[in-house]
Amino acid sequence: MPHVLETPIEYLKGVGPQRGDLLRQELGIGTFGDLLLHFPFRHVDRTQFQAIGQIGGEGDPVQLRGTLKQVRLVGEKRARRLTARLEDASGSVELVWFQGIRWLQPLLKDGGEYIVYGKPALFRDRFNLAHPEIEAAATWDEGAATPLQPVYSTTEKATAKGLNSRGIGKLVHALLPQVKGTLAETLGRELVEQYGGLGREEAIMEVHFPRDPERLERAVRRLKFEELFFIQLQLLRQKQLMQQDVRGNVFGTVGELFNTFYSNHLPFELTGAQKRVVKEIRKDMGTGKQMNRLLQGDVGSGKTLVGLLAMLLALDNGFQAALLAPTEILAQQHFRSLSRFLEGLPVQVRLLTGNTKAAGRKALLAGLKLGEVHILVGTHALLEDRVVFHRLGLVVIDEQHRFGVAQRARMQAKAQVPPHVLVMTATPIPRTLAMTVYGDLDVSVIDELPPGRKPIRTVHRTDRSRNAVLDFLESEVQKGRQAYVVYPLIEESEKSDLKDVQDGYESLSRRFPLPRYAVGIVHGRMEQEAKDYEMARFIKGETNVLVATTVIEVGVDVPNATVMVVENAERFGLSQLHQLRGRVGRGAEHSYCILMTADKLGNDSRTRIRTMVETQDGFRISEVDLRLRGPGDIMGTQQSGLPKLHLADLVKDADLLQQARQAALGLLAIDPDLSDPRHGPIARTLAEQMQEKAVWGRIS
Ligand code: ADP
Ligand code: MG
Repeated sequence: MPHVLETPIEYLKGVGPQRGDLLRQELGIGTFGDLLLHFPFRHVDRTQFQAIGQIGGEGDPVQLRGTLKQVRLVGEKRARRLTARLEDASGSVELVWFQGIRWLQPLLKDGGEYIVYGKPALFRDRFNLAHPEIEAAATWDEGAATPLQPVYSTTEKATAKGLNSRGIGKLVHALLPQVKGTLAETLGRELVEQYGGLGREEAIMEVHFPRDPERLERAVRRLKFEELFFIQLQLLRQKQLMQQDVRGNVFGTVGELFNTFYSNHLPFELTGAQKRVVKEIRKDMGTGKQMNRLLQGDVGSGKTLVGLLAMLLALDNGFQAALLAPTEILAQQHFRSLSRFLEGLPVQVRLLTGNTKAAGRKALLAGLKLGEVHILVGTHALLEDRVVFHRLGLVVIDEQHRFGVAQRARMQAKAQVPPHVLVMTATPIPRTLAMTVYGDLDVSVIDELPPGRKPIRTVHRTDRSRNAVLDFLESEVQKGRQAYVVYPLIEESEKSDLKDVQDGYESLSRRFPLPRYAVGIVHGRMEQEAKDYEMARFIKGETNVLVATTVIEVGVDVPNATVMVVENAERFGLSQLHQLRGRVGRGAEHSYCILMTADKLGNDSRTRIRTMVETQDGFRISEVDLRLRGPGDIMGTQQSGLPKLHLADLVKDADLLQQARQAALGLLAIDPDLSDPRHGPIARTLAEQMQEKAVWGRIS
């Protein structure tokens, strides 16, 4: 028999087919269980009101109680709106609704007493409230027996059909008695005690309709902990299972190639951090367990070389290796630099991208199958089924966040014994995020830049200093250095963006005229051949200034480039800016990053620009980025394997997440397969959750 939580939502009293569809489409609520987990995002105290005369600021919502006056419909057609005035002893304020008028108007009686909740905004020098929630004082006072009223997220469309926060609250209120007694405990007794003493069912009920603030807090904490705990437990258990069941290739020997390269071909001394990480990797790959390692390191910290050393170990042990890059430009660059590093060594490196010509591809694939090709570098093209390896032992994935879990899985499927996997990240990821998304991977960190790097001087400029910026560019170019000038290009405004790039290119070409100077241009809408040609010219130093879009964002390495000018910098995200800045400061000369913006900036843009000017530390930048954008946007929810969280917040609940990780680690340490009866509830919940996720099992 299906659990009551699986009952379709339309069967709940007060819902029915129409509202059922609405709930499903607008709020993703399809079942009783979904509604139960549609938690309020805050509560209002029904007994507290603000004096209308004291409304002082915009933005913060207020709860008012007063008499309604002058309820009327004004305006024609599209501009039709319902307005009213709410008055208390201290003053009055205008209320206005543009939507849901037909449904709202009959409820509003001139002279009646009402409770109003909304955000005040300044309109023609006076405060008003647009689309406030409103309720007659009489029904309100009935509800005031439970003073903390839940506030639910909803949408405009749902609100228009009566499913505002209050409407949803009523549905939840009807639901709770029906599910009472059916919600199983998920945490063992110990953890329940540790996290506030509320059982699961009790906690869920409290969060919707709390008895008092203290119990609400305990309930929220318990449920947040539970959410985070099971994510951690799942990841750690997955890792544990993988290490138990899956045999990895043993790279037991450090052989000829690795040693020769290390002693004779390395153009520089490895940094301490690089050495440490290479050691960690060597250890992993020698154990017989499959390596799943995430390599975090700031821009320019030398991750590629670490990847190369790992690949040489694979080769020394009779295996092939693959290096996967997110873009064509990066794949080419890796191919070139690996080929250069490996010159004179008996290693066959090949490049495979979507643009590899058919004839070349045929030969390449044949060689790969026979094992004559040792290292294959490429883009997504490597994932195709026709790409068959003789004996793939290691996959290095560069700039991970563009590859999803599914792609990692496809690479893994290319060998009988799953190859070792080394994932290198483009931008440092905040600790909390790394813990949630890559919690099943081991993590290595390169926390040191190669010696001799000079800090990149970062400044913020506006259009008014454009001439000075150009003069500065010229002075650098005259010293023989090169510069990037980057424009935003986003799909929604592609046409005007493209025009900006082209205009920029033309005006820079006038400012830096031939034959003395040369300016290049590269953007995503160019033919591949043209792009390659322009990139190659810049790399060879034949162009002084490269006008570009973010196609050069990650990985591009031209040490002679010392200036990065970012146009409309306010339109870029923090991690993008950090990546772009990482294109300079790669050689021995002083480098500069100039962030050009409009005069006026919004709050978030200002924070981003200020952060860039203040710090070069990618980990710090990523924390700010997480706070500004939230985890979903950073990881790209689609691909990332970012779990859906109902209550917990990866930014605000970082401490709780840490505790959850520790608790999960501690539990698995004393009871690895959760067979102790005391851990029964945990084991059952975990089993259910892992079953849901089974498709993703064993792939990271
Ligand atoms: P990222 O970590 O951003 O991928 P790269 O691997 O592209 O960085 O390395 C950046 C630059 O630093 C490259 O030119 C690389 O050859 C150089 N490099 C790497 N390791 C060292 C080192 N130990 N000493 C000096 N230069 C190094
Ligand atoms: Mg790199």
